[in-house]
Amino acid sequence: MSQTVLYPLRFEPIYQYRLWGGRRLAALLSEPLPNNGPIGEAWILSDREDHASLIADGPLKGQNLSQLMDRFQDQLMGKLAQRFRRFPLLLKFLDAHEMLSVQVHPGYTHGGLTPPDSGAKTEAWVVLEAGNESRIYAGLNPDATPDILRHSLTNGTLADHLLCITPKPGDGVFIPAGTVHSLGGDVVVFEIQQNSDVTFRLYDWGHVDANTRQPRPLQVDQALACIDFVDGAAGLVTALVEAETPVKRERLFHCEPFWLWRLSGQSLFTVGAESVPRVLVCTAGTGQIEHSGASYVVGKGEIWLLPAAVGTCAFRPHGAVSLLEIAIPDPCINGQGRVSSQAPRKDSA
Ligand SMILES: [Zn+2]
Repeated sequence: MSQTVLYPLRFEPIYQYRLWGGRRLAALLSEPLPNNGPIGEAWILSDREDHASLIADGPLKGQNLSQLMDRFQDQLMGKLAQRFRRFPLLLKFLDAHEMLSVQVHPGYTHGGLTPPDSGAKTEAWVVLEAGNESRIYAGLNPDATPDILRHSLTNGTLADHLLCITPKPGDGVFIPAGTVHSLGGDVVVFEIQQNSDVTFRLYDWGHVDANTRQPRPLQVDQALACIDFVDGAAGLVTALVEAETPVKRERLFHCEPFWLWRLSGQSLFTVGAESVPRVLVCTAGTGQIEHSGASYVVGKGEIWLLPAAVGTCAFRPHGAVSLLEIAIPDPCINGQGRVSSQAPRKDSA
């Protein structure tokens, strides 16, 4: 067995062409984008077979997250080691220059519609940049029924039946599995989701893919079958301030698959937790993680995985910094039931 001791791990982004994308991730990630086409997504932490994130530095540089999950399950996942074969979260930045398709991801109760081992997908967004034209659709108006939605697809009026948000930087938007959603109009978000890639497209705004010169396929029947017409948890969330010093710690999402806090400050503070992994995403400023006598410089747009064996660390900001800290809840310790979404804050602008 390897004697390697895990350390705070930075991963390389994986860029994805999307017809709705733009070029704004270059500034967020502080590095040039590949090619000249629209880049819609940077997958910043992924344990998907086709796109596994690569470790960027240190003794494990070049190994990917899937290999890490195989070789270092206990050191990496700690108390959660027996629960997950693959890393359970998929993290991305999205640059939605155009509107994404109106889509829905299945929930736990739609297993018959998804490939084996793909599971449910609850996701959430933290808005990083938005303009006057930016829109987020999350959920349905109360009058929407399957028949009304199906009819609206024939005359291009689907958006009239969706809850529309005018996003601004800092907003958190919760999208439980089964929620109809879309976003676009020059909005950049951080996206957290369960590690599943099952998406059913309901409507695509008449987009034609410049690469194939074809519209993208829709899956209207599957999408309608997955939509949750009852649950009202989708939409803007109210941040819960848990602490003001030494860092402002706001809890944005607190659901069964993930918890997420935003940390903003400029004095030394603590990140990570004992015996469970944590993920840090730097959305503004720079700083350094201090662990075991070493320091690891953290830049804007970077993602760092703190393995369970690393535990808590000091984070020393270099001026004002904003981090997202993500935890995978342990139901045995936290007594979590099903999704416990926070009270939504609706905005029908
Ligand atoms: Zn989605």
